[in-house]
Amino acid sequence: MSKNTYLLDPKLLSDLQEAKETFWANPFMKSGRLSGEGLKDIVEAEERLVRFAPLLKKLFPETENGIIESPIKHLENMQTVLQDYYESTVQGRLIMKCDNELPIAGSIKARGGIYEVLKIAESIALEQNWIQKTDDYSVLSTSRSKKFFARYSIAVGSTGNLGLSIGIMGASLGFHVTVHMSRDAKQWKKELLRGKGVQVVEHEQDFSHAVSEGREICKEDPTCFFIDDENSKDLFMGYSVAALRLKKQFEKEGITVNQHHPLIVYLPCGVGGGPGGVTYGLKHVFGEHVYCYFAEPVNSPCMLLGLATGKNEAVSVKDIGLSNRTEADGLAVGRPSALAGKMIKEMLSGVYTVSDQNLFKMLAILHRSESIPLEPSALAGMMGPVMPRIQEHLTSLEIKLTNATHLVWATGGNLVPVSIMNEYVEKGKSYLG
Ligand SMILES: *Cc1c(COP(=O)(O)O)cnc(C)c1O
Repeated sequence: MSKNTYLLDPKLLSDLQEAKETFWANPFMKSGRLSGEGLKDIVEAEERLVRFAPLLKKLFPETENGIIESPIKHLENMQTVLQDYYESTVQGRLIMKCDNELPIAGSIKARGGIYEVLKIAESIALEQNWIQKTDDYSVLSTSRSKKFFARYSIAVGSTGNLGLSIGIMGASLGFHVTVHMSRDAKQWKKELLRGKGVQVVEHEQDFSHAVSEGREICKEDPTCFFIDDENSKDLFMGYSVAALRLKKQFEKEGITVNQHHPLIVYLPCGVGGGPGGVTYGLKHVFGEHVYCYFAEPVNSPCMLLGLATGKNEAVSVKDIGLSNRTEADGLAVGRPSALAGKMIKEMLSGVYTVSDQNLFKMLAILHRSESIPLEPSALAGMMGPVMPRIQEHLTSLEIKLTNATHLVWATGGNLVPVSIMNEYVEKGKSYLG
């Protein structure tokens, strides 16, 4: 065992090593207001997405006038069934952010991944004087512009969904895209991408390996842009925009967030960029009465380990003997993002782990009670509202939950083929007995 683990509480370490569901309360969390500096970056990212809306509207008519956004849904049936099954009470209301319905990529990666591709496209187009920032960017959908972009390539390492998002967006603009897929990536995701002309390189090892291979190969080529999921500020800011959009949705629905109406958010975490960016956005946009928890598979608790040891990306779940094997392919990450952990260290309330069995059980329960199809990774947030240790943690922070809004972030599922979704549901049902 490596020295990195010596700093962990012995009970926490043994829970992690035995792959037991556990919880870590973040001692570094700061309450109080954040500076307006961070908000500027978030607004800048939103403005860039608005500039691209005319182009996206043309390329992807299924978006809302070129804006990629998902609805929120009240889960009344699910709340009842979840409470019964896990013999726990959720105080307040349960709602879901349906990123499984995000257009183009069907997962949370449609936020960060597409944003970074667009930022690359914009930087090239501005530099080459093809466009001005005030132009209608839909000119970038012409075959002439596609030919220009074809001189450049984009590469990425992925467990599946980031590859889908970057591959689909990059290819539609004309870029040559290479996706380095880790061993976890599902066959249908690879086939879908190949069908769009994306080059898929299959690796026999895990996510960190796929990323570093991709990074090395891209380095040799000056016309190649590498989208680095372990360290990208652009991906991070793309995710953060979700908070501005959520604020508008809450206003429309009359959902308030303040001391008497806290917002508790539960986010599935892989490398940390997605949930990190969303947390960063929420803390800046809603202020201090938002509490964010990350959820990781019991065999891939990389963010928990990185934050709890203070070693961030210098520690891997393999250092404590874990396999990083999980059916939750979107979360199969052994080493956390260098950037995300640092950005949210003082904003995050805590991290918990979930077993694959519980992911499948909740998948089946949600499918039955609300007819919502999610992929296994996307259920990790659903456990949070019924976990006694999280309820105790919130109580210890003197947070009154009577009027709380529990927001479970559902991160993917809409592109999963029906036959595979049926297998997931059957598997979940068999665990439920
Ligand atoms: C990628 C992904 C996540 C987590 O995002 P990270 O940036 O890797 O932490 C969660 N759910 C799904 C379905 C994903 O694809």
